[in-house]
Amino acid sequence: ALEGRSAIVTGSTSGIGLGIAEALARAGAAVMLNGFGDPEEIETQRASLSECCDVDVAYDAANMTDPKAIRMMAEHAAMRFGQVDIIVNNAGIQHVAPVEDFPAEKWDAILAINLSAAFHLVQATFQGMRRRGFGRVINVASAHGLIASPFKSAYVAAKHGMVGLTKVVALEGAEDGITCNAICPGYVWTPLVEKQIDGQAASHGIGRDAVIRDVFLKEQPTKRFATVEEMGALAVFLCSDGAASITGTALPVDGGWTAH
Ligand code: NAD
Repeated sequence: ALEGRSAIVTGSTSGIGLGIAEALARAGAAVMLNGFGDPEEIETQRASLSECCDVDVAYDAANMTDPKAIRMMAEHAAMRFGQVDIIVNNAGIQHVAPVEDFPAEKWDAILAINLSAAFHLVQATFQGMRRRGFGRVINVASAHGLIASPFKSAYVAAKHGMVGLTKVVALEGAEDGITCNAICPGYVWTPLVEKQIDGQAASHGIGRDAVIRDVFLKEQPTKRFATVEEMGALAVFLCSDGAASITGTALPVDGGWTAH
C-alpha cells in the first residue's frame, strides 16, 4: 500500500522504531533507519530488511540531541530516496527518579531527544511534503503524553509536549495533505521497558516481579504488554490514504489504561 513512499524512522535500531520500520518496509516504503548500536549488527539489519521487502533501506547515525545532524539526515534521505513522505519521530529515552533527585542533565537529554528532535525533523521535511501535497508525521508519544505517573517528570513533560506539537503540526499541514498524529502506547515489551525494571524497583522499594505485576501492568487492563508489531500495523494504517482525515489525534494503544 505504501509503494513509492519513503520514510525516516528515528530510533529504529531497536524496539518500537524497528517494529515500525519493518512494517513500513513490508508495506513497500523505502526506509531510513536511525539509532545507536553495533555497526555490524545495524548493517545486517539494514541489508536483510532491504532484501526481504525488496525496498531501499538506508541508515543514518544522526544523534537526536544534535539539530544539525537531524537536518543532515533529512537531506541524506531526500538525496537517497528523492523525497521524504513519512517521518516517524520515535527515538526516546527514559529516566526514573523522584523529582527532587532528578538529574538536570537527564532532564535536558530527555527533552532534547523525546521532544525537540521531533520539531527539528518536522522543520527539515515539512516544505517538501507541502510542495508535493502529501505528508505523514507520526509522533511516538506515550500514554504518558495523556496522563502522569510518579518519578517520570522529564518523560511525562516531554510526551505531553509531543502531543501539543502534534496538534499544531496537524493544523499547519491540514490544507496540504499532511497529517500528523501521536501514537500513545501503554507498556510495550522493548529494551527501554526492560531497563526500567531496576530503577522502578529501587524507587518503589519492591522486587522485579512486583514491578512487572504491580507497576507496569497494574494500570493496563489487558494485563499484557503490547507488541512492536501492533505499533507497526497502526503506523502503516496512519500512512495510508484511508487515514487522510485522521489528524491532530493522540491515539491510545494502551490496552485500556487511559480509559480508567
Ligand atoms: P528502545 O530503547 O528499545 O529504542 C530506542 C531507540 O532510540 C533505539 O534505536 C536507540 O538507539 C534510539 N536512540 C536513543 N537515543 C538516541 C539518540 N540520542 N539519537 C538517536 N537515536 C537514539 O525503546 P522503545 O521502547 O522502542 O521506545 C521507542 C519510543 O517509544 C520512545 O519514544 C518511547 O518513549 C516510546 N514508548 C515506549 C513505550 C514502551 O513501553 N516501550 C511506551 C510508550 C512510549
